[in-house]
Amino acid sequence: MSHRAAGGLQRAVDALPIVGLDESVIDILQRDDETDEEADNPEQEADNDVPSFPSVEKVSIEEDLVNQPACIAFTSSMARLVNFLQLPIQKCFYRDKLIGTECDATPPFHVKLNRRGSATIIEWFCINGHMLWKWNSQPVLKYAMQGGDFMVATNILLSGNNFSKLALFFRFMNIGVVSPKTFRLIQNHYLVDSIKDFWGKKRAAIIDCLCAKESVVALADGRMDSPGHTAQFCTYTTMENESKDIISVVTVDKRQTNRNSVIMEKHAFIQTFDNLLADLNITEIVTDAHMQISALLDPRKGRYKDKAIIHSLDVWHAAKNLTKKLHVAGILKGNSILLVWLKDIVNQFWYIYQKAQHRDMFNDMWVGVLHHVTGKHEWTRGKCDHGPLDATTSDKELMVPGSPPHEALQRIMFNRRWLKDVTKYLTFRSTSELESFQNCILMYAGKRFAFSPPVYEARCLLAALDYNHHNHRPDYITRKNEKS
Ligand SMILES: [Zn+2]
Ligand SMILES: [Zn+2]
Repeated sequence: MSHRAAGGLQRAVDALPIVGLDESVIDILQRDDETDEEADNPEQEADNDVPSFPSVEKVSIEEDLVNQPACIAFTSSMARLVNFLQLPIQKCFYRDKLIGTECDATPPFHVKLNRRGSATIIEWFCINGHMLWKWNSQPVLKYAMQGGDFMVATNILLSGNNFSKLALFFRFMNIGVVSPKTFRLIQNHYLVDSIKDFWGKKRAAIIDCLCAKESVVALADGRMDSPGHTAQFCTYTTMENESKDIISVVTVDKRQTNRNSVIMEKHAFIQTFDNLLADLNITEIVTDAHMQISALLDPRKGRYKDKAIIHSLDVWHAAKNLTKKLHVAGILKGNSILLVWLKDIVNQFWYIYQKAQHRDMFNDMWVGVLHHVTGKHEWTRGKCDHGPLDATTSDKELMVPGSPPHEALQRIMFNRRWLKDVTKYLTFRSTSELESFQNCILMYAGKRFAFSPPVYEARCLLAALDYNHHNHRPDYITRKNEKS
């Protein structure tokens, strides 16, 4: 970018109005530029022999606005058109109401093009200043809201965009745009609740279908809008494991938890499942490892103990954790043999969890790993059931039993905290699809931007609507018949 362009960009950015979250919403009726709809149509005397001018185009139904084609029109091009075409009147039709004298002004009439919001207003005047006709480049809604302004504001939100970025784009293009105030007004008055209602209806239809299901497996996870203590919101999302439909989106604001961001996820979990369990027969909940959530799902003393819900943990996270721990131990001096075995051990971890039906079976196979790496394939209480270890490890360097790397491996594999959760992986579940939905939230509520609580919630719901809408569409097949 040239220095000049960069300077221009900075000036344009500096000149943008700052969008504050706390700014109150003004009532649309207070709009000072046009409160009277009839003001667009100058009074024409009925007895005048003049054609009546088309009145302003009104929006009365959705189709008058949604999907109506529009264009980028240059003011100079519009000026060329209106200066070439003449109004179909021979003289000004204005008559003084009190004295009764008529204006004698004749064409050519003077044309003025003004910008209002994202529209252009064209006015025709006689030489004496009487306005003959006023035309708006956009259809107009109730309370003189311009259709284009409404669509710009609406679609900034619906497409997951951000007002200040789009305003900058409009400024670079030298196209008029709604003010930040009007944008917020439209967003807060017309959009946020509509999105909530629409999500409510779509979600109800999904829940209706799932009600009859004997056993629903729910994947659940919370996502903070920013890391650690700076988090303002936690969005707790729940996906049904079979359909992969999003069945719940709960957004908790820090203010609801006394500004304590640590307990936001727990708070959101309770809100989610108190609600879902009233409608659905949820038999299993899959989450990532989270102590407060594990406590809530504790089968003996947790909040949901009477529901006998199985709590499963994401097995992929466990494998990743195991890899990390082995790697950390393996880079220590004298432990490099751990790195030689790392891949085999992690593969065996996957294999065991795919096979193991219960804790004892897991334990027996897991102990086997510790023997196998030393070249021992039979021991007092069992023998190897060779999975992936077999094929690739026949000529591998063996570990010496009791050596530092072998002991390090033992410590990692039989870590007490990890063993406590062993059974939670037996169902072999993954929450990876839920994570891809959480990335979809980023498209609608980028981490770099600040939103008010209702707007943040609406943006998360838009992400859920988007995700569910595309969830059941067939995979895109390329010409070579490969999934893209
Ligand atoms: Zn006149
Ligand atoms: Zn073996």
